[in-house]
Amino acid sequence: MQTPATDTRTHALSLTPSGLLTLLNDWGEPGFRARQMVEWIYSKRVFSVDAMSNLPAALRLRLSRELSWDLPQIISRLDSADGASKLLLSSERGLIESVILRYEGRTSLCVSSQVGCRLACSFCQTGRLGFVRHLSTAEILAQYAIAEQIVQTEGRRISHVVFMGMGEPLDNYDNAVGAVNRLTGKDAFGLSVRNVTLSTSGLAPQIRSLATDVRAALAVSLHAARDDLRTELMPINKRYPLAELKSALMHYQQVTGDKITIEYILIRDKNCSVREAKDLVRFLHGLRAKVNLIPFNSHPGMPYDRPSDEDIRTFQSYLAERSIPAPVRYSKGLEVSAACGQLAAKKLETLTSIPKRNDVLNRNLILS
Ligand code: SAH
Ligand code: SF4
Repeated sequence: MQTPATDTRTHALSLTPSGLLTLLNDWGEPGFRARQMVEWIYSKRVFSVDAMSNLPAALRLRLSRELSWDLPQIISRLDSADGASKLLLSSERGLIESVILRYEGRTSLCVSSQVGCRLACSFCQTGRLGFVRHLSTAEILAQYAIAEQIVQTEGRRISHVVFMGMGEPLDNYDNAVGAVNRLTGKDAFGLSVRNVTLSTSGLAPQIRSLATDVRAALAVSLHAARDDLRTELMPINKRYPLAELKSALMHYQQVTGDKITIEYILIRDKNCSVREAKDLVRFLHGLRAKVNLIPFNSHPGMPYDRPSDEDIRTFQSYLAERSIPAPVRYSKGLEVSAACGQLAAKKLETLTSIPKRNDVLNRNLILS
């Protein structure tokens, strides 16, 4: 979607609804024209200016000349039998991965906020890539626009967006927050604030800021509630240890009144014995939170495995006996490497190189 390097035009998706109103006002257009355009994009989810049939031809021409409307191309789509589609998208700035997850009665989109990630969690394929680049607000929203176009042909709408693709959204704070506010804004895409989830590995200062900057659901990837173990799994814990993370979450909860979701990957012989369950119960004390238990999704070369069903049940029962419901969530899309933590094209070069479009379409650019 991105404008070519030589193209300095603003992308239509980088303008807020009020930005569009101002722009058309500056062009001397009557207010109702701008409102029509906002309705095309944000209510009808139409992202092609040519299809905005009630706008005069001269205005459509000016819009297409002065703004960029390109969306990324889909250069690979892998569908799994359990209803996931892993998309590899190509913009002029490089490649982006997203995953559509179809459930009975709802359709989720897992968006990336960065290409790669610099937080280097030891269990995460994206973390192994290292950091490639931040995605812009328009690039995050373009993932939604493309997914919406795909699922509309199936009679679905994207009902949920989770920032659980590649990257740490709070490490790309302004762009991620900008995209969330556009997704949930009543004057914009208007998704329910409960249906848009920011997932973070625990950047404490940014969590505090989120309390007033954004209305969305917050998920925290905890995975261990003891500092030594968490630091081993998630190096960011050294910078923001558990006490600091908890204090930021308490602040967030005081300001927003919202429940927090704790994501907890279960890794065999690592973080799911009764000792770790006790640590988790202690950490949760005083927080209103629900816990999702996610059996580790393996990928080649990782020194970890998922625990036995019995170990999972024991961990879960320990929490349940202390009135902490903790459903086990199995990731969709394992067979096409679309599950949590599996996003990473086969080679880093795949994500850093800018593909020649026709080339890529003909090459079988299959993901890891
Ligand atoms: N950076 C953010 C969001 C992207 S990761 C975060 O860490 O929360 C999305 C989720 O996938 C996180 O909960 C992350 O811990 C989880 N994840 C990463 N690798 C995984 C794996 N191998 N198996 C299961 N979940 C994994
Ligand atoms: Fe980054 Fe999240 Fe993966 Fe950690 S789990 S490396 S924060 S994407």
